[in-house]
Amino acid sequence: MPELPEVETTVRGLNKKIVGLKIIDVWTDYYLKTTEKSKQTIKNKAYFLVFKKRIRGQTVIGAERIGKNIIMHLSSGDAILTHLKMTGHFLYGRYAYDKKRDAWQAKEEGPLLDPYNRFIRLVFSFQNKKHLALSDVRRFAKVLLINKNELPSDLQKLGPNPLAKDFSFRKFENRLQKSGPIKSVLMNQEVLAGVGNIYSDEALWLAGIHPLTEVSQINRKKVAVLFTSLKEVLRKSLRLGGDSTSDYRNLEGRRGGFQKMHNVYRQKGKLCKKKNCKGIIVRIVVRGRSSHYCPIHQK
Ligand SMILES: [Zn+2]
Repeated sequence: MPELPEVETTVRGLNKKIVGLKIIDVWTDYYLKTTEKSKQTIKNKAYFLVFKKRIRGQTVIGAERIGKNIIMHLSSGDAILTHLKMTGHFLYGRYAYDKKRDAWQAKEEGPLLDPYNRFIRLVFSFQNKKHLALSDVRRFAKVLLINKNELPSDLQKLGPNPLAKDFSFRKFENRLQKSGPIKSVLMNQEVLAGVGNIYSDEALWLAGIHPLTEVSQINRKKVAVLFTSLKEVLRKSLRLGGDSTSDYRNLEGRRGGFQKMHNVYRQKGKLCKKKNCKGIIVRIVVRGRSSHYCPIHQK
């Protein structure tokens, strides 16, 4: 699932490429094959028709990230909220609609034709004849319309952005006043917004903390190391354009580079990369989520 660096990379791309563009049409087939019961997303056809009516003719004025959510602000004061979930990612370029197949296809050579970019479920058409497409093989992404002044309650509950300038060590310590294994606490979106499986694994490896450690048992010095480790892995991935271990691609359809830098995530059976450590990476399940760690230096 795209986490903070991937979603941030997409949002930065949106701010570069689609601000100032007018939406002339929108298409989706999400509602054709869905098992979701939610009525308040474009997976409901009646909702989608209203969505379409409200966004046609609007100009995109900016994009922002809140946790793993993307918010595209429109000139009307409405905003399009997208959560990419497991496999969703936005792509920008020239696309064409094939009436016979009721499907869209990229019309330019290059990375938009990457097999991971072929599952087009939603397309915004702009006045400049280009398109913003959402590729989502698993169809789990969530797209709805919100008013910029009324964030949905699940967004209001999100914790702080760990890369925000004002996110201090003191704030981090306060957020960790929870019970549970540190792996789960780091991934809890109400504690911190945007950290998921990849970056919690990598930050704990770097800080030398076992993922099952009860939060209250981690001493202050270690919490300080974790604080810098977490910021370090997030920043490093952001510099590399995110992680494409899974389906994530940037707006141009290209991979990020962080999947080549993993020290621990999905490295089961490999020798630990920490200097002079002879550990072999193992995988365990912590509250239903996989977790990778080195049994020698992560205590
Ligand atoms: Zn190790």
